[in-house]
Amino acid sequence: MAAPYTVHTSTLFDPKKKAFVSNISITVDPKTGLIVDVTERKPDSLGSTVPDGDIDLRGKVVMPGLVDAHTHIFLHSYDERPSLTQKRDESVPERVIRAVHHCRTALLSGYTTYRDLSSESMQEMDAQIRDCINRGLIPGPRLFVATRALASTGSYELRTENHANGVCYPRGGEAIDGVDEARTAVRRRIAAGADIIKFFADYRRRIMRYPPTQQHPYIASPTHPPKDPNPDILVFAQEEMDMIVKEAAMAKAPVACHAGTIEGATMAVKAGVATIEHAYFANEELFQLMIEKKCVFVPTLAVCERVHAKRFHEILDQTRLAYKMGVRFACGGDTGTYPHGQGVREMELLMDAGMSLEDTLESCTVGGWEACGKDLCGMRFGWFEKGLRADLIALRADPREDKRALRRVDFVMKDATIYKRDGKAVGMIRDDHEWDR
Ligand SMILES: [Zn+2]
Repeated sequence: MAAPYTVHTSTLFDPKKKAFVSNISITVDPKTGLIVDVTERKPDSLGSTVPDGDIDLRGKVVMPGLVDAHTHIFLHSYDERPSLTQKRDESVPERVIRAVHHCRTALLSGYTTYRDLSSESMQEMDAQIRDCINRGLIPGPRLFVATRALASTGSYELRTENHANGVCYPRGGEAIDGVDEARTAVRRRIAAGADIIKFFADYRRRIMRYPPTQQHPYIASPTHPPKDPNPDILVFAQEEMDMIVKEAAMAKAPVACHAGTIEGATMAVKAGVATIEHAYFANEELFQLMIEKKCVFVPTLAVCERVHAKRFHEILDQTRLAYKMGVRFACGGDTGTYPHGQGVREMELLMDAGMSLEDTLESCTVGGWEACGKDLCGMRFGWFEKGLRADLIALRADPREDKRALRRVDFVMKDATIYKRDGKAVGMIRDDHEWDR
C-alpha cells in the first residue's frame, strides 16, 4: 500500500468557512484512509511541477467528496420502470448487479458517501453491499444503510388485488404495530446491520380502494374517483414514533423519517428524529419546530420535480421558506428514483429554491455528515481537517462561473484512494496480489 502523499490545490471550497480559499495542500494516508495534514502554502512556493508521488490539482476547483443524504442503491429510474415492477419482476441477481453499477457510477460522479434509506424489498442486502464496498471488492460510495424501513401493517407494503389467490409481492418494509413491536423492530434492524433507522410517518394506505395504475406517480385509474382517492395518512401513533426514536437512541443510531404530511412530520420531529425526508407538505410551524429540535431537512426536490410535478412550484416555495428561516439542510434527492450519477440535480434544485452555491455545497458535505448522525456514524467526513476521511473531488470548471461545473467531476478520491483522474475511472478492478492482503 502506498505511502502518504500530498494533493496540491489552487482553489478549494472550504465548507466550514463556506468560502473558496487558495493554495491549500492536503496530505493523506492510504493506509488509514485519513487526512494527515492540511496546510496553506505560500504563493509560488511550488514550481510548475509537484514532488514525485504528489497530485497536482492546481487549476481545478477542489472540494470534499459529496454526500447524497437520500438514496436507494436498489432502485433504478422510474422512467425506465415503476418501482412496483422493479420489485416484483426483477430477479435478486439483476437487482444486485444493478446496485453494483449504481455504486460505481455514484462514486465517479463525485459522491463518496451515500445515505441509503431502505433496501426496497431487498431485505438486508444494502448492508451486505456496504460491506462488500468496505472490503474493497467493488468501488462505491461509503454507505450508511437503513435495511428495511419501518411502517405499520398495510402501509408501506406492495399489495395486489389478487392477494386472495396467493399472488404476493416480495416483502419490503417491516410492518410493525404497537409500542412493543416498535421496540423489537428497531432491535432487529440494528442486529441486521442497519446504521440508520428509517420509518414512515404517513403513506397512501388505501391502495385497494381506488387502485392506482402505478404507485409513482399516483394516477387514479377508476372512473369518477374522489378528489384525493388515496391521500397520505398517518401510519404510526405518537407513542410508536417515540419508541422508535428512544430505542434507536439506545443503539446510538440516528432516525430518518419519511413524511408527506405536516401532521406526520410534526409528530416525528416531536419524537426526536434526526432528519425529515421529503415533507411534501410543510409550513412555518413545522420548520420552527425543526429548528428548535435541531432536525435536519432533506427535501428531496429531485424526486418531487418528477412525482409532484403539478405542485412543484409550491414545494420550491416551502424549501425557500425553510432556508430563509434557517432550517438545517442536507442534500439528497431520493436518488435511484432518477438515475444514479445525477445526484447533482438536487444541488441544482436547491439553488433554484434560492439557496446560495456555498450553502448548497455545505449541505451536500457537512450537512450530509450531520444527516448520517454526526459522530454517531463513527467517523468524520465532509470537510478538510486532520483525522477526517480523505474524501476529495475536483471539478474542471468553477461552479461560481459555470452552472454545469458540478456535472463535470474530473477527480475523485475516497479514503485516500483515487478512483477518477483526469476525467477517467481508475482503480476500478483490484490487482490480483491485493486479494491476498
Ligand atoms: Zn426514498
